[in-house]
Amino acid sequence: MSPEQFREQGKKLIDWIADYYEQVESYPVLSQAKPGDVRKHLPEQAPEQGESFDHMMKDVEQFIMPGITHWQSPNFFAYFQSNTSGPSILGELLSAGLGVQGMLWATSPACTELESHVLDWLVDMMGLPQQFKTTEKGGGVIQDTASNALLTALLCAREMKTNFGTNQLGGCPKTVAYISSHTHSSVEKGIKIAGIGINNLRIIAADENQAMIPEKLEEQIQKDIEEGFIPFFTCATIGTTSSNAVDPVRAIGEVCRKYDIWLHVDAAMSGTAAICPEKRSHFDGLELAKSYAFNPHKWMFTNFDCDCFYVSDKSVLIKTLSILPEYLKNEATEQGAVIDYRDWHIQLGRRFRALKLWFVIRHYGVEGLRHHIREHIQLAQGFSQWVNQSSDFELLNEPPFNLVCFRYKADDAFNKQLMDTLNKGGKIYLTHTVLNEQFWLRMSIGQTSTERRHVENAWNLIQETAQQLKK
Ligand SMILES: *Cc1c(COP(=O)(O)O)cnc(C)c1O
Repeated sequence: MSPEQFREQGKKLIDWIADYYEQVESYPVLSQAKPGDVRKHLPEQAPEQGESFDHMMKDVEQFIMPGITHWQSPNFFAYFQSNTSGPSILGELLSAGLGVQGMLWATSPACTELESHVLDWLVDMMGLPQQFKTTEKGGGVIQDTASNALLTALLCAREMKTNFGTNQLGGCPKTVAYISSHTHSSVEKGIKIAGIGINNLRIIAADENQAMIPEKLEEQIQKDIEEGFIPFFTCATIGTTSSNAVDPVRAIGEVCRKYDIWLHVDAAMSGTAAICPEKRSHFDGLELAKSYAFNPHKWMFTNFDCDCFYVSDKSVLIKTLSILPEYLKNEATEQGAVIDYRDWHIQLGRRFRALKLWFVIRHYGVEGLRHHIREHIQLAQGFSQWVNQSSDFELLNEPPFNLVCFRYKADDAFNKQLMDTLNKGGKIYLTHTVLNEQFWLRMSIGQTSTERRHVENAWNLIQETAQQLKK
């Protein structure tokens, strides 16, 4: 493709995306495709001859779009959002255009330095502990996902506890980790990958607000030590996936400090709320964490993938993951004057993700970001009040952030039928969780273009649909 052809097709594609955003509300939010519906339209073999871009775009419209679930619809209330915005999409495009691979500082200094700088900005923007800054003892890096950030933290914790011996000798018998029953499933996956073994993962009881009970954590740690186990890792969550519960980070952090255990804090979704000072009480005690992660790709208008991972001591991270084969040797690295982000995560190669985050922060400004996050939180509070005032529905609890868990006052089967009917209707999309052995609907409000009218319409539709099903 010549630059001239690229210019022509590129302009058309930008127009296509802009049109898409103008019309996104008119699509059924949840794709109505059945298994195999997309593949059956695709040719058995790859084309022998090249095809025109126009032809490809026609196929996108005909065969791909029906298989799309519209995550960017303002009526998307399912899971947690994976929202985006104009500046982010353009940043992503620019990153693809430059096509930089930033594994070392030397392979594109701007890729590394912009990333360190933007992650340091976020520390101040969100009131995070100063030690997380790259200019201090710690530092931040963009990872693909919260799951890989967690795995990185687990590896660091393992090496800290075994004096970097597991890296040398392999195996780490008897190391044990702690989570609550509401911790994200990525910990279980990480425990498998890091060679810890699922039998060495302890599930600590949660209270009636789905928050980990620190006293139970300490009891279990003492029991494990008595039995010859080596406690090494705890994950606390600010805003659990199931119900947005908040673990008491300070109390958990103090237990971890007492027993010399690595504390990782996972705030994948709700971390963005720290941009609002009035929400920072939920983050109290974060300075006790050895590592912390949140996803701008969930709630901060930055398209997937973009996870911000912070550590309080970067030397541990680098010592855990550092490799230096001959073919990567260079002067800047040898002088120790630069960050080489290849040592800060699992993979070697890395994209220039900081561009999109930089564009988002500069486009909105901190005040603009705060404004939108506050709006989502207010909409969730409004929705929870409507639920509370209705005699037919019940609310799980006052939402700390932007997720409302609620149910119709009937059995689980009815609530599931209500959800399925709503989702099949295509006007809204929401998902569920099970808490206290009951089925709860989850209404997550965090799409970039969701306004009050969308939330009002959703509530009306939920009520009407429940009424109809009752008949
Ligand atoms: C979404 C979520 C994750 C996983 O996020 P990925 O970036 O997709 O790995 C982890 N923890 C919590 C609390 C989440 O909500």
